[in-house]
Amino acid sequence: MTPQSEDFSAWYNELVVQAQLVDRGPVRGTMVIRPYGYRMWELLQADLDGRIKDAGHENACFPMFIPESYLKREAEHVEGFSPELAVVTHAGGKDLEEPLVVRPTSETVIGEYMAKWIGSHRDLPLLLNQWANVVRWEMRPRMFLRTTEFLWQEGHTAHIDEDDAMRETMWALGAYAAVARELAAMPVVAGEKTPGERFAGAVRTYTIEGMMRDGRALQAGTSHYLGTNFAKAFEIQYQDEAGKLTHAHTTSWGMSTRMIGGVIMTHGDDKGLVLPPNIAPYQVVIVPIGRKEQGEQAAAEARRLGAAIKAAGVRVHVDDNRPQLSPGFKFNEWEMRGVPIRVELGMRDIENGVATVARRLPTVEGQGKEQIPLDKVAGLLPGMLADFQAFLLARAERFREDNTAVVDGWDAFAAQVASGWARAFHCGETECEDAIKADTAATPRVIPADAPEESGVCVKCGRPSAYGRRVIFGKAY
Ligand SMILES: [Zn+2]
Repeated sequence: MTPQSEDFSAWYNELVVQAQLVDRGPVRGTMVIRPYGYRMWELLQADLDGRIKDAGHENACFPMFIPESYLKREAEHVEGFSPELAVVTHAGGKDLEEPLVVRPTSETVIGEYMAKWIGSHRDLPLLLNQWANVVRWEMRPRMFLRTTEFLWQEGHTAHIDEDDAMRETMWALGAYAAVARELAAMPVVAGEKTPGERFAGAVRTYTIEGMMRDGRALQAGTSHYLGTNFAKAFEIQYQDEAGKLTHAHTTSWGMSTRMIGGVIMTHGDDKGLVLPPNIAPYQVVIVPIGRKEQGEQAAAEARRLGAAIKAAGVRVHVDDNRPQLSPGFKFNEWEMRGVPIRVELGMRDIENGVATVARRLPTVEGQGKEQIPLDKVAGLLPGMLADFQAFLLARAERFREDNTAVVDGWDAFAAQVASGWARAFHCGETECEDAIKADTAATPRVIPADAPEESGVCVKCGRPSAYGRRVIFGKAY
């Protein structure tokens, strides 16, 4: 495999296939998510779905074919999405009267039904979510990061006024930041997007941005306050207490299979994946060692230990049915596939009543393999996994801080965004953002919600700063 330090992009492209996360689909830009990759998605989905339901939302499922006319009702929306639409013009052996768009996102079709279902202020808030696949034709596809078809959830909600809709928008942003930190061990920065980076049709767009190990940013989830733009386009109205017909305020928010790409690029190294335990399909793998009879004895002991570890609530896999492969090969393979903790079990270990336990990365400098009494292993693993999860989050946070700098002045800015993030003042003008992008390939990623209030002059054009705080700029996926 190409080392990460040599060619990050080649490393990523080779790793996603070798680690059996995906295979390339038959149509350009599509991906087959293999069981190992899909399990990661299921773990993320289960956690996020729980949060969504706990906050009062209900899941529904809308059709994937949307009449083209729906998209045209919101002018900015159709303009933003047109270049990436897949449109069905022919079906059932004949030309269709109206072309059908394969959903790129569902504000329009859900808006149509919100209008139908909402009558009075008592019907609000309407809190919907759907887990679905969407299609956006990608010119430069990359597995998980930009694929023509991907999986996501999209929340769509309608509210009585701006205050309530903004509370919802910020709730979704907070839920995404928590999922990123707690499951993916990604220390994301949350905040608003600049106007030039807004979702097509939104009044305000919020984002979580993570730093990948090549210093680039990954937008890992977005939440949009849509104002009354879609309510007006689809006549989403309610009768207020005085009986007056009023437009609802709507929101939408999404997190996708892109997060898996984020996990790979936040933690991986030259040996392969490094998976945070909370999102790892196998948190622990047991490799029995030995040939013939000894091998069978070790495998039997490994299965016993596996059952005890499983009973402790750990996702464990016993690698006991590939006797043709050497232990060394298996160790390398599980390392490459990012398993957080490996347990080795040979006859000498068993005779001594111990197992050899190795973490994917040493959490303490110089710490290698350790031997743990067999009857203690299952009890100790949950704590070791929690420590490993915390270690990865802290390591990623340190990496981000080491590669982020406060900069003033164009030369310092250009040097900083070549390999990391710059915290800089910006005038807020979209043409100025475009000029920065043309010169450096960097874009404004986020106006961090927790940044101190400051003002200064735009790093590019010298006009006064627009946001009352510094903006994070970086190159992005
Ligand atoms: Zn400027």
